[in-house]
Amino acid sequence: MAPAQNSISSKNVAVIGAGASGLIAARELHREGHTVVIFEREKQVGGLWIYSPTAESDPLGLHPRRPIVHSSVYESLRTNLPRECMGFRDFPFVPRVDDLSRDSRRYPSHREVLAYLQDFAREFKIEEMVRFETEVVRVEPVEGKWRVRSKNSSDLSDDEIFDAVVVCSGHYTEPYVARVPGIKSWPGKQIHSHNYRVPGPFKNEVVVVIGNFASGADISRDVAKVAKEVHIASRGREADTYEKLSVPTNNLWIHSEIETACEDGSIIFKNGKAVHADTVVYCTGYKYKFPFLETNGYMSIDDNRVEPLYKHVFPPALAPGLSFVGLPGMAIQFVMFEIQSKWVAAVLSGRVTLPSPEMMMEDLTASYTMLEALGIPKRHTHKLGKIQSKYLDWIAEECGCQLVEPWRKKQVDNGYGRLVSKPENYRDEWNDDDLIKEAYEDFASKKLISSLPSYFPES
Ligand code: FAD
Repeated sequence: MAPAQNSISSKNVAVIGAGASGLIAARELHREGHTVVIFEREKQVGGLWIYSPTAESDPLGLHPRRPIVHSSVYESLRTNLPRECMGFRDFPFVPRVDDLSRDSRRYPSHREVLAYLQDFAREFKIEEMVRFETEVVRVEPVEGKWRVRSKNSSDLSDDEIFDAVVVCSGHYTEPYVARVPGIKSWPGKQIHSHNYRVPGPFKNEVVVVIGNFASGADISRDVAKVAKEVHIASRGREADTYEKLSVPTNNLWIHSEIETACEDGSIIFKNGKAVHADTVVYCTGYKYKFPFLETNGYMSIDDNRVEPLYKHVFPPALAPGLSFVGLPGMAIQFVMFEIQSKWVAAVLSGRVTLPSPEMMMEDLTASYTMLEALGIPKRHTHKLGKIQSKYLDWIAEECGCQLVEPWRKKQVDNGYGRLVSKPENYRDEWNDDDLIKEAYEDFASKKLISSLPSYFPES
C-alpha cells in the first residue's frame, strides 16, 4: 500500500450513474468523508437491472441519435452467478425470508437483483444523494477542478464545479454488432441482444443467434421455446462444428461461425451447412462510450480500449480528479465495483497515494506490451479473464481492504464452469453445497445475516 503523504481531506464528488457501481461508489466515498452528488438520468436506482418491456426502435442500436433505452435485460433473465458471491461484501445478496414476494432462488430473476439494489440504497441512505432524471451531458477539467453540465427532465441545464468526478455510467447499452460477410444484401431481420425482450416475435421462425456466452446461451434457448429452429453460430468452435443440442423442443443446433449471408435469405456456416433464416440475433457484446466526457483529446476509445487508464480506473494525467468504476469485464462485478470504489475514495482523501503520472503511464505501456505479446487483441484490453483475482487483490492491498474471500473466488470459478458445461440447468443444479455453507458461515460470523435460506445444505 502506498502510504499517504498528505493529510486526509474531504472532497466534493460527482458520481455519474446510480446503477450497482454508482451506488457502491457513493457509499464508499461517503464513508471516507466526501460529499457526494449522484447524477442519474432514470427515475430510480438500479441501472441495467431496471427492466423495460419496450426496447429501442432501432433493433441494432446503430443510429447515434436514437432514443436510448438503458437496460439490456430480457424478461426471462436470471443471474449468471450464484447470489452469495454476487452481492456486496457487507450487504450479502441473501434471500429475504421476511418477504414472500421476493425470489429466493440461488440464481434469482432480474427483479430480485433490482430489489436487492433498492434495499442497498435504502440501507445506506444513498437515494438522498441522487438527482434523478438528471443526465450529465458534459464533463470537463477546469483549473484543477471538474465542470459538470447536467440536464434535468424539464430540459434545464446547469453547470457545477466538483473536486472530482467518478464515472459509473455502465457499458452494456451501446451494441457491438459483429461483422457478417454478405449481411448488407441479406433480406432478413436483424436485432442485437440489447433489444431482445421476449421470444414471442420469433414464433415459427428460423433464427440464427450469433454468440454463445451468457446472453447467447440464454436467448437461443428462450427463442427455441417458440421458434421453428434456432441455430447458434459460435466463434470459439472448430470449423466443422455441427451439433444438435438437447432441449425439450428438439430444435436447437450449434455451428461454427458464419461464413457468409446470402441475398436469397440463407446463412452459410463455416461447417458448410446452410439455413434459410428469418432473423439474426447478435449476442456479440457492447462498446464503451462516454459521450459526455471532454478531455481535450487526452482520453480516447480505440478498438474498445479506453485509454489511458491506469489499472482500468485512473487516467494518469487527470487523476485522481477523474476516475472510472466498473470498466473491466469480469465475473465478479459487484465486488470489483466495491474494491475499486474503496481505492478511489482513499486516493481522493489522500489516505492512499497514486504513483506519478509518468510511472502510471509506464505501468500502462508495460501492460499493453504484455497483452500484445500474449496475442490478446486490443478490443479485449478490459476483459480480465484469468487475471481478475490478481487484479482485485492488488487493488485491495493498495487501499488496505479485505482481499476477496477464497470461497467467493471458488464459487465464481465453479459457477462459470457450470455455465459453460451445462447452460440448460446450471442455475438449478449445482455441486458446491460446501461453498454455500462456507459463504453463509462467513456471513453469520460477521453478523451479516440472521437466518439461512431453504437450500442451505444440512451439516
Ligand atoms: P449500469 O447498471 O448500467 O448503471 C449505469 C447507470 O448510469 C444507469 O442507471 C444509467 O441510467 C446511468 N447513466 C448513464 N449515463 C448517464 C448520464 N450521462 N447521466 C446520468 N446518468 C447516466 N453481473 C452480475 O454480477 N451478475 C449477473 O448475473 C449479470 N448478468 C448480466 C446480464 C446482462 C444481460 C448484462 C448486460 C450484464 C449482466 N451483468 C451481471 C453485469 C452488470 O452489468 C453489472 O452487474 C452491473 O449491474 C452494472 O452496473 P453499472 O452500475 O456499472 O452499470
